[in-house]
Amino acid sequence: MSHSPVASPRPSRQPYRGRLAPSPTGLLHLGHARTFWIAHQRALENHGTLILRNEDLDPQRSRPEFVQAMLEDLHWLGIRWTEGPDCGGPFGPYSQSERRTHYLQAWRRLRQGGLLYPCLCSRKDLAQSASAPNEADDEPRYPGTCRLRKDAAGFTEPAGVNWRFRVPDSVPVEFTDLNLGRQSYIPGKDFSDFLVWRRDGVPAYQLAVVVDDALMRITEVVRGADLLKSTARQLLLVRALQSTQPEYAIPDYFHCELVRDADGSRLAKRHDALSIRHLRDRGMTAENVLALAGWP
Ligand code: GLU
Repeated sequence: MSHSPVASPRPSRQPYRGRLAPSPTGLLHLGHARTFWIAHQRALENHGTLILRNEDLDPQRSRPEFVQAMLEDLHWLGIRWTEGPDCGGPFGPYSQSERRTHYLQAWRRLRQGGLLYPCLCSRKDLAQSASAPNEADDEPRYPGTCRLRKDAAGFTEPAGVNWRFRVPDSVPVEFTDLNLGRQSYIPGKDFSDFLVWRRDGVPAYQLAVVVDDALMRITEVVRGADLLKSTARQLLLVRALQSTQPEYAIPDYFHCELVRDADGSRLAKRHDALSIRHLRDRGMTAENVLALAGWP
């Protein structure tokens, strides 16, 4: 009998609230099909609520046609949610582009707590930080050039400079993933001071996701294993924010193994031939697509 990837027990006693968090920057592919199907199954098995969050944080890369396509493709696969941009719900809005005031509030609290600093370095970091970093394009390590700046208090708005979170060097960030077991990352070694806000006024992925998961009362985050290191970064943000805001509870995490292409590389949105839409147009059923994605 094959082991069901969704069967791991769940320690939390809170009513289950899970989320699907696609970014509308391209067509969803087999990797998304697998991760989102697992998220759906875990919500069902736990008699929980599943939320769809449209992660259209980056105005330059997000497209309305991809929002429509991702909702349709997820529905076609048989995935259902009861809160989302298409159906509303008590913790909306469910599109990141409409949640800026929440991100700003978190930025203010972190800055007041002395945990952020303005950074005047590199445009390359700026380009990458609104997307979830994947294994091949993780946020570059920051050498710490602006780390000792003391002028954070002089800013009432984040725009105009990059903002970084000062990580506690050498203090391991540990968590037990419900699928992959014990994880440990060392800030300062595995990752460095990461961006929380971009100079062009766009909040970074790491901050937005932490704010949304907390305010949408997510109890379990199901995502691809390429985001394990981001989870470690996000735990630092949750801990920093929960000292003043009790709704910042640490969720459970379930990271799914990645679907890889024939060369062993992680699938990306550029693999259009492996998009759910393309496979569907070629006559595959949802069952065929999930089987191709390695389900169960
Ligand atoms: N929106 C992110 C992505 O599509 C995933 C975010 C997450 O699961 O935290 O890669």
